[in-house]
Amino acid sequence: MDGLLFDIAEASIHDGPGLRITVFLKGCPLRCRWCHSPEGQSARPETLVFPGGTRLAGEYWSAQKLAEYLLDKKELLDGVTFSGGEPLLQADFLLEVLDMVEDALPSIIDTSGHGPYDKLKALAEKAESLHFGLKLLNEEKAKLWTGQGSALIIDNIRRLDKECATPYCFRLPIIPTITDSEENLTAIANLARELNNLTSVDFLPYNPASGGKYAACGRAFDPGFDENAPTLLDLETFRKLCPVEARVLE
Ligand code: SF4
Repeated sequence: MDGLLFDIAEASIHDGPGLRITVFLKGCPLRCRWCHSPEGQSARPETLVFPGGTRLAGEYWSAQKLAEYLLDKKELLDGVTFSGGEPLLQADFLLEVLDMVEDALPSIIDTSGHGPYDKLKALAEKAESLHFGLKLLNEEKAKLWTGQGSALIIDNIRRLDKECATPYCFRLPIIPTITDSEENLTAIANLARELNNLTSVDFLPYNPASGGKYAACGRAFDPGFDENAPTLLDLETFRKLCPVEARVLE
């Protein structure tokens, strides 16, 4: 079957251990106000308009073509990361790809966790590890800032932790005064204490270039928070609450 990709990053070093290829799958059920990949949200191809020209975001690839592309580079790589957008939206396509590459290339699934549990589990069972891109655990605040509540995500993580041994980390974007509030960080540390297969909580500094692609998508960037506010994250305090390694990634 075909999947819709909006980018492939070769020689990626930020999406997991070693040198990897990151495949970006198009379409996401969330609408994070700070999303720095707005062209990954729509589940259809779209034309980005830049001052110097246009670029198509979204190309259909067969599972066979993507698997062959990845296997062709396997000697040079430590693994492949499937990101988005939201990989769970194209789980059947991704399962086909994983069936073909899993023996040759370790894979990471980078997901918000918002999607059908059976698909999440099927992907997790074929992956080396997962990155859960957590944002806000409070249901109403999650709806306000990401367009979707957090209940499904939290349920999926708790269930997967009981039913699948694949390790995973949390990756939390530091959105000043929003995701780094004491309430949110305490909730994340409390959730972490319930889990067995969580390996680390990784904080991702806010990307000040987040708004750069909105104009190309024909949209206004209106994050609704002060992008220049200092973070409320106190890593040492968080480490005292959190049962696993906590770190800020570069
Ligand atoms: S989950 Fe990721 S891709 Fe989806 S809207 Fe949020 S930041 Fe963007």
